[in-house]
This record gives sequence, C-alpha cells and structure tokens, in this order.
Amino acid sequence: MEPFVLRRRGVMLVLSSPSGAGKTTISRRLLERDADLHMSVSVTTRPKRPGEVAGRDYHFTDLTQFELMRNRQELLEWAKVFGNYYGTPRAPVEQALGAGRDVLFDIDWQGTQQLAEHARADLVSVFVLPPSTAELERRLRGRAQDPDEVVAQRMAKAADEMTHYEEYDYIVINRDIEESVEAVQSILGAERRRRHRQIGLNDFVKALREGQ
Ligand code: 5GP
Repeated sequence: MEPFVLRRRGVMLVLSSPSGAGKTTISRRLLERDADLHMSVSVTTRPKRPGEVAGRDYHFTDLTQFELMRNRQELLEWAKVFGNYYGTPRAPVEQALGAGRDVLFDIDWQGTQQLAEHARADLVSVFVLPPSTAELERRLRGRAQDPDEVVAQRMAKAADEMTHYEEYDYIVINRDIEESVEAVQSILGAERRRRHRQIGLNDFVKALREGQ
C-alpha cells in the first residue's frame, strides 16, 4: 500500500489559433478521451450561433452583465475579439486547479498573455497553426455559418493572429486531426509529470528511501 497519497496541482492548458485552424475539434476530442480534463466555459457578449448550447459552449450574456463581472474581478482574463467581449470566469478554474483537475481554455492570444502574467506556473500554452492558407480558407468557408464579410474579416485577422505563435510554449501544425490530438495529449501528459506540479514528493521519496 502507498504510504502517501501523491496529489498534484491542475494544469491550465490553453489552445489558441486563428479561427479555422481546427482548434475547436481538437479540444472536443481531447475532452472526450481525457476524463481529468475540463473545459473552461467562457462568458461572451456575442450572439449564439446555430447549434451552440448555452452553458456548454459559452455563457451568453449582455454587455452590462459582462462589465459587472469584469468590475467585480470575477474574470480571470478578458478580451474584445471581432467586436465582441469574451472572458473566463475565475471561480470554476480556481476550484478545478486546487482539486488537481486540468482545465482546457479555448481563448485568444490576448487572454493567454493575461494568464501568463498572473498564473505562469500553472499555464501550458499551445498554438495551433493551419497547414496552409488555402486549407485555412477552405475550413472557414466549410463552416458556412458566418456571412461572407465575416469570413473575409477572419482571413485578414488570421495573418495578424499568427504572428503571436512566438508567445506560446508549444506549436502544433494541424495537418491531421488525430495526429494533432495525439500531440496535444502527449504535451499534457508530460506537463502533468512536471516536478513542481506534484505535491508531497518529498515525503514520498523519503518513505521510499526508508523502505516503507
Ligand atoms: P468564437 O466567437 O469563434 O467562438 O471565438 C472567437 C475567438 O475568441 C476565438 O479565437 C476564441 O479562442 C476566443 N475566445 C473565446 N473565449 C474567450 C475568452 O474567454 N477569452 C479570450 N481572451 N478569448 C476567447
């Protein structure tokens, strides 16, 4: 029997990418196959898209409510993206990390910078790049949910967003979804084993040395 229960602090796993690079699909697959990983559900002022579920994809809210949360320091980070506000509710993240559960964030580079300032030790950031511009455009059109001008706006923004790859710990080029999911899963596996995240190692090794 193990004399000590080893615990660990959860990982904040951030996935960012220009929209259309495949990040949402990667996130979904990761959540399906890893029971210790939980999605952070953001608050947003943008309207709900067809197929989205309130409370699962986002907490949809208005600007007044958003500002209230922001002023009360209830958001861990927030940003304005494509004219709408997005933010990460603080309480569920802090609870999960303390309980040793890992949290997955689908947030942009502005939010990632804020998390890096306040929670660098817990943060692991992954930037997903599309394999080519043609493929990025094909994926954006394939969605067929956004009007043409929004697609054009996102293509233009993608070029800008990509320059932020340098701020991330890991880069995954999404040529194949399965391969990319595998890559992010192995990053998470390695990061979970980082010494500084494991609580009680000192006592554990002491007991091992004493032959307990
Ligand atoms: P969408 O409206 O397509 O769901 O998301 C647009 C962008 O906002 C994506 O790049 C997404 O990662 C980002 N985003 C979603 N939630 C948050 C959040 O809570 N904080 C920040 N900083 N960005 C977010």
